[in-house]
Amino acid sequence: MEANTSTEKPDKPEPPKVVAMVYVCGECHAENEMRPRDPVRCRSCGYRILYKYKKRTTRLIVFDAR
Ligand SMILES: [Zn+2]
Repeated sequence: MEANTSTEKPDKPEPPKVVAMVYVCGECHAENEMRPRDPVRCRSCGYRILYKYKKRTTRLIVFDAR
């Protein structure tokens, strides 16, 4: 008699982590880790054009906050 002791589930629930996006400054290229509700602005030089940087993808989305 075979007993299936495997309790693994096919879909893993994502860990409850606060998703902080990483933005790269278009001026000094400094990485700014901020949350979606934070003002889009470089903390290094104050530049307002940041590139949205996703860790999982290599896409760069330009955020122009004026
Ligand atoms: Zn900057």
